[in-house]
Amino acid sequence: MEVDMNLIQAKEALKKYFGYDTFRPMQAEIIQQLVDGSDALVLMPTGGGKSICFQIPALIMEGTCIVVSPLISLMKDQVEGLRSNGVRASYLNSSLRITEQRAVEEEFMSQSLDLLYVSPEKLLSSDFIRLLRLAKISLFAIDEAHCISSWGHDFRPEYTQLGYLKKEFPATPLVALTATADKLTRKDIMKQLGLKGVKPFIASFDRPNLFLESRPGQKRIEQILEFIKGHRDQAGIIYCLSRKSTEDLADKLKARGYKAVAYHAGLPDGIRSTVQEDFINDRELIICATIAFGMGIDKSNVRWVIHYNLPKNLEGYYQEIGRSGRDGLKSDTLLFHSYRDYTVLQDILKQNEAKNTDVQLLKLEQMYNYATASVCRRRILLNYFNELSTENCGNCDVCLNPPVRIDGTEIAQKALSAIARTGEQVAMTMCIDILRASGRHELVSKGFDRIKTYGAGRDISYPAWRFYIEQLLQMGLLDIALDDHQKLKLTEASKQTLFEGEVVSLVEWAEAKKVKTKKEEQPKSQADELFERLRKLRLSEARKRSIPPYLVFSDASIRDMVEKRPTSDSEMRTVQGVGDRKLQLYGDIFMDEIRSYLKEKAASGSTIKGASQLLSLEAFQAGQSPEEIAARRDITPGTVIAHLLSYYEKGEDLDLSSLISGETLSAILKVLPNQEEPYRMKNIFEELEGRYSYDQIKIALAYFYREVAGKE
Ligand code: ADP
Ligand code: ZN
Repeated sequence: MEVDMNLIQAKEALKKYFGYDTFRPMQAEIIQQLVDGSDALVLMPTGGGKSICFQIPALIMEGTCIVVSPLISLMKDQVEGLRSNGVRASYLNSSLRITEQRAVEEEFMSQSLDLLYVSPEKLLSSDFIRLLRLAKISLFAIDEAHCISSWGHDFRPEYTQLGYLKKEFPATPLVALTATADKLTRKDIMKQLGLKGVKPFIASFDRPNLFLESRPGQKRIEQILEFIKGHRDQAGIIYCLSRKSTEDLADKLKARGYKAVAYHAGLPDGIRSTVQEDFINDRELIICATIAFGMGIDKSNVRWVIHYNLPKNLEGYYQEIGRSGRDGLKSDTLLFHSYRDYTVLQDILKQNEAKNTDVQLLKLEQMYNYATASVCRRRILLNYFNELSTENCGNCDVCLNPPVRIDGTEIAQKALSAIARTGEQVAMTMCIDILRASGRHELVSKGFDRIKTYGAGRDISYPAWRFYIEQLLQMGLLDIALDDHQKLKLTEASKQTLFEGEVVSLVEWAEAKKVKTKKEEQPKSQADELFERLRKLRLSEARKRSIPPYLVFSDASIRDMVEKRPTSDSEMRTVQGVGDRKLQLYGDIFMDEIRSYLKEKAASGSTIKGASQLLSLEAFQAGQSPEEIAARRDITPGTVIAHLLSYYEKGEDLDLSSLISGETLSAILKVLPNQEEPYRMKNIFEELEGRYSYDQIKIALAYFYREVAGKE
């Protein structure tokens, strides 16, 4: 793509305000198009980086960008986020008092806003329309644009009025953004907003940082406890099917000392918003919720999502897991499935008797197939969303633990025969108890201990039997009678296996079906220690300012800091997500913490990158000479000088005059024009006939590169 002046400006703004070095795919093209005065339609997954697409134009174009968003609860967070980056933003909606609204309107009219977020109601009020006509507008951004379509899952009637914008302000660019990509919705958005001939930008819906995992839903509580043990102090969401189960689960987790709380539509408004606020501010870490939770959550550091039950369709599932890892860092998702979940949902759908029950049943089936699949899960998802994918992802449970297939004919025959011999009068648990000869009272009282297959499957564990019987259900070799106490029933196909020896292929049960991620296996490293310290600092800074911790720094920024361990402004500036404003607000506080960490490490004798350098620097700044420092620390003066120069080169204020005299410096600099670049210390040393040491030449060269070379 041609490098346009606008794009350079856009990149500068990206660094200055948001602290990022590069645009994500499509962002630059979209920005260019808007700055050039054209409209755009943007389809990107949650967390894909839609906001930057209008925030950067808002910053580099003249006037105010009007952002229309239906999510009033989000506006405050979004505006706070922008302000924490030094962007001039405000919002207008019904949650503000009249006096507050007036103040914002004044800001707007005096051209002191780069962005103004408004609810559709506010936008369409006659008062506000009057202001719009008088103000200088850079562009309109319609967020959550799918709300315009009655096809979509989140229709908002007010949105249908937005077509007015293009009619009234034909010359002002308009961008519509959504994470919903289906064709009907897309067409509706274009038509209703009057975006004629606009080619939509469709980003990949892949979220490669999300680990995808699906497990049989046995002993879910135990599995969840095990899972969250590996995610201590990390925020996550557990989606449940019913209101009651959210409460039960939250109680169970609380009883075990976890910060967990339930959220569902049946709770009073006040409680719901408190729960939401607590989650955003890291006061609550685990939310057990129905699917009512999440729409108004912009939290970038949700680290994991669990589905306690099978979701109804892949759209919902993908949106829900998409709430984790918005910051692009690795996040874990875990889905539980069982054949029973599947049939229960089927039943619910059938009873609803909606017009499109068939479609919904089909979607449910696709969901179940995904959950129980033995091919790469990401491939299934991407193909489902019409993005052709032919490669295994390497970041799902199937890719990491490819299932092993075995000849399961005998296993199947044992199970089917046990069921047949009870007269098809048992459910899953009893069936397995018979196979494993449990000898429990109910079993014996019914005489099941006398049937021929009693104990025929003793060598297979209980969970393994469940795993196999689930597969028989999936393959249609068994059925489940929902209207008769979940009893297992034989089918036509089971007879072929039972009596005609039809071969059955099964996925082998692997005892620890848990996929160990690399992170969990590692012992707590030094990096984790610094991460924890910086995270604590972030929390206390956030509390001081009454903002959510992720608005101080995202997890991604903290990770990058741990990696780079910046101790100077210029180094801090290279950390992802550190723009001018954050550097100014938090730079010193965080660097102080990093310095004391490094010093503690150095003092305790651990060889950690940067620690020794820092000790040299501090001693030097306290007035000690390189020789003194070297003697005290048992290193050579040359090493100390190298330490000091590493800071000097990074732009640290460092008085070289105590290291090299003015005459020596100019004597060395004088010979440089005779030398060939790149300069070699040895050649300089020889030309000066050994009058000056290598250390002195090193210092002079550092001075030359910082003070002379760049400024010529
Ligand atoms: P969406 O609105 O599409 O859900 P956001 O705009 O909230 O996504 O962006 C998701 C995350 O990605 C945010 O934390 C944002 O700061 C970050 N992000 C966006 N663009 C970039 C970029 N070019 N480089 C690095 N991070 C980015
Ligand atoms: Zn995969």
